[in-house]
Amino acid sequence: MSGKRLRIGNVEVLALSDGRLQFVPSEFFPTVSEADWEPYRDQLEADGSIVLNVGSFLLRSDGKTVLVDTGLGESSEGMPNAVSGLLLKDMADNGVRPDEVEMVVITHLHRDHVGWNFVWDDDVFRPTFRNARYWIPRADWDTFAPRARMRALSYIREQVLPLEGLGILELMDGEQPLTSELTALPTPGHTPGHTSVLIASDGERGLVLGDAAHVPAQAQETHWSPRADMDPEQSRVTRRDLMDRVERDEAIVVSGHFPSPGYGRLARLKGRRYWRAL
Ligand SMILES: [Zn+2]
Repeated sequence: MSGKRLRIGNVEVLALSDGRLQFVPSEFFPTVSEADWEPYRDQLEADGSIVLNVGSFLLRSDGKTVLVDTGLGESSEGMPNAVSGLLLKDMADNGVRPDEVEMVVITHLHRDHVGWNFVWDDDVFRPTFRNARYWIPRADWDTFAPRARMRALSYIREQVLPLEGLGILELMDGEQPLTSELTALPTPGHTPGHTSVLIASDGERGLVLGDAAHVPAQAQETHWSPRADMDPEQSRVTRRDLMDRVERDEAIVVSGHFPSPGYGRLARLKGRRYWRAL
């Protein structure tokens, strides 16, 4: 197994990356003090910053090729120290063609998760994954689509709204099967429709987290809520319940923002739960 590839039962998982984001901890987690970070210093860079991978996952399940999230895309304008635009090259380097993807599943409608839905081609935006239908949580569609005129949401205009007119948009409502082994699981809080993907195959379990957590420390510190959480209270409850469930099920955590490739398990040491990379 190369570090990027993993099997969960009969589901093949490939970790892909579009780049990275960098933040000052006190800006990213406004309610978390420097002292709170002390046990987790090793999760910060030497200069004290937080670096987040911008990960996507390619899942092969039930004969279907499914891509979860599409990164930040070609422009990281306005995001200091961000690196982006690497997803298609990373796919090619791993022998995957965009036209193999049949389902694109978007965990939520933030900019770093929808950036490669479309590519600019000959004066028009065309779907990057031309054989795919795009699955988006309905509650996020209902929240973001009406606000797409806002300047900060220009990415919604370019990367999300055209899906509807092209007839390739599928809206996810509640818990629903995607394949016989993959289930969309609502995990609201970060956004109203935020959705994780449960993997259950041949007695093994995994969970593609989405942004239910951003750093491994949140496996223990489930109350740490980033500024980007639209409903921090709901997000805390969701994160606590989700981490409890993952621990109980001994599921493999598959995280796009944890250090690449983002695979790990939850373990306990002296009563504290922590994330251990595979
Ligand atoms: Zn994100």
